[in-house]
Amino acid sequence: MNALVFDQQLRYDTQYPEPEPAESEALVRVSLAGICATDLEIVRGYMGFRGVLGHEFTGTVVKGSRPWRGRRVVAEINCVCGKCNMCVSGLANHCRRRTVIGIEGRDGAFADLIAVPERNLVEVPAALTDEQAVFVEPLAAAYQVVKQVPIEKRMQVAVVGSGRLGLLVAQVLAATGCRLLVVGRNERTLDFCEKHGIQAIAVSQLVPRGDRDVVVECSGSPAGFDIAAQLLRPRGTLVLKSTYAHSAALNLAPVVINELTVVGSRCGPYADAINALARRQIDVESMVSRRMPLSRGVEAMQMAADPRYIKVLLKIGG
Ligand SMILES: [Zn+2]
Ligand SMILES: [Zn+2]
Repeated sequence: MNALVFDQQLRYDTQYPEPEPAESEALVRVSLAGICATDLEIVRGYMGFRGVLGHEFTGTVVKGSRPWRGRRVVAEINCVCGKCNMCVSGLANHCRRRTVIGIEGRDGAFADLIAVPERNLVEVPAALTDEQAVFVEPLAAAYQVVKQVPIEKRMQVAVVGSGRLGLLVAQVLAATGCRLLVVGRNERTLDFCEKHGIQAIAVSQLVPRGDRDVVVECSGSPAGFDIAAQLLRPRGTLVLKSTYAHSAALNLAPVVINELTVVGSRCGPYADAINALARRQIDVESMVSRRMPLSRGVEAMQMAADPRYIKVLLKIGG
């Protein structure tokens, strides 16, 4: 089959072996996939992953148990054991023996076919287009912020970083009625915020007042971390949404001095994301900058790293 493979180097492979689904797994024919920062990080060496990239996708089940066959699906990316202490205590996303689609120990979705545990499958309602469905995974991660840190009306909140994830987090937060400010570097994405009635400011214009109750850091850079800390009031909450390639450079002094609460945040609830997309509460369509065929996947990955593009999608098959 065709696949975008990372193995020391990123390459498009037309002879990659088709996945053989295990007993409890389904085979999904991928129709559309999204490139995110994690994919770009993996190519730079993050997680030491080797294999087919991609974890944001939608497709149709071609092989599996009868109820799933022919259904249009998305999939939870954490493939878990169901037996360890984390799984048993309801924290399956933290399974001690997990593999993660396209990130850790398991081939991903930038390919014609992918094998996925059936327990991970989530049906896509007819109300959602493929282009919306491909955002379910990252949007769920955005909803995880409000699951972990309850946001009330009139709270002073900021998002640092106006990239792919930052724009999703900003839209989720805006819907809570909080007083929201997005801080970013990219004109294009700051315009996106303004168009959606979200106050946005270029980082070069920012004068942090230390008055924010909650700041969500989505930039993934030590500079973004510093800005987030400056925006927060004493005893405020700093939510970290992205991993840092150079975490040694983080200045943690403000965390101690201002007694900040730091919350790490990763994967989130698919149901919330699907509901919001079906009700058209979150605009993902205008985030799509390019749609590229899988055969041009290497080029598509370069585009995704270019700030002129927000979301780059890969069209697979058909
Ligand atoms: Zn992602
Ligand atoms: Zn487990």
